Amino acid sequence: MPEGHTIHRHARRHRAAIAGQPVRTGSPQGRFSAGAKRLDGRVLEGIDAHGKHLFYRWEGGWILHIHLGLFGKFRLYRSDPPPPSENARLTMAGDDATIYLSGPTMCELIDPGRELAIRSRLGPDPLLNGSTAAKIKAFGSNLARRRIPIGAALLNQQVISGIGNVYRAEVLFRAGIDPHLPANRLSAETVDRLWREAAAQLRLGEKAGRIITVDLSDVDAKRRSDLRRLERVYVYKRHGEPCRRCATPISTTDMANRRMWWCATCQPPGAGS
Ligand SMILES: [Zn+2]
Repeated sequence: MPEGHTIHRHARRHRAAIAGQPVRTGSPQGRFSAGAKRLDGRVLEGIDAHGKHLFYRWEGGWILHIHLGLFGKFRLYRSDPPPPSENARLTMAGDDATIYLSGPTMCELIDPGRELAIRSRLGPDPLLNGSTAAKIKAFGSNLARRRIPIGAALLNQQVISGIGNVYRAEVLFRAGIDPHLPANRLSAETVDRLWREAAAQLRLGEKAGRIITVDLSDVDAKRRSDLRRLERVYVYKRHGEPCRRCATPISTTDMANRRMWWCATCQPPGAGS
């Protein structure tokens, strides 16, 4: 599933490509035909992301809510798009860019009340504008109410928005936190460090369009673009391989129904409490 950095990146790129102009919309697959008919030819006024949710704002007050889920995909063409496949749920064509969407979990027209309801269930998003102190405070109180392991809490979009399976393992490693530590036992200093780590990593990912969490000094590389796929992360999918900082074999377990990886030496039991 795409993590928050990918969703914010879609919002930014789609904004640059087709916002501020009339957009022709269609639904070759047919499951969004009525919605596409409503939007067709209206001006797309703006696009916002919150966690893994996208909100497209149209002239006339319509809001298009999209959640990619596990299989949703956007394709963006700057010129001469190929014809959309018959699986395309939504097509959006501006003056000189065209976007196809296929396989989303959610593609629906909603009103402002529904958007508010969706957002009220989402935890703070490190990639959204707003006061960092206020967001850390909200994150901290969301953790304080939960006894589940911090490794499970990070995947809960009500606790923090936008973290998926790669980032949860990587930011816990970078922050030196035991993934099994109950969420309500993190010290205030650890909550602060974890938030800042998550925010910094998501921002890097949004910019690069890929997840690279290692410091270059830990992988003996000069440029981030030099890194091969397996060199870009500290622990994710590295079960049994040596930790990049201490050479301890990386551990793995199931946590919140997803595989989780960590270094038992860099993230010893109780670290972060
Ligand atoms: Zn280690």
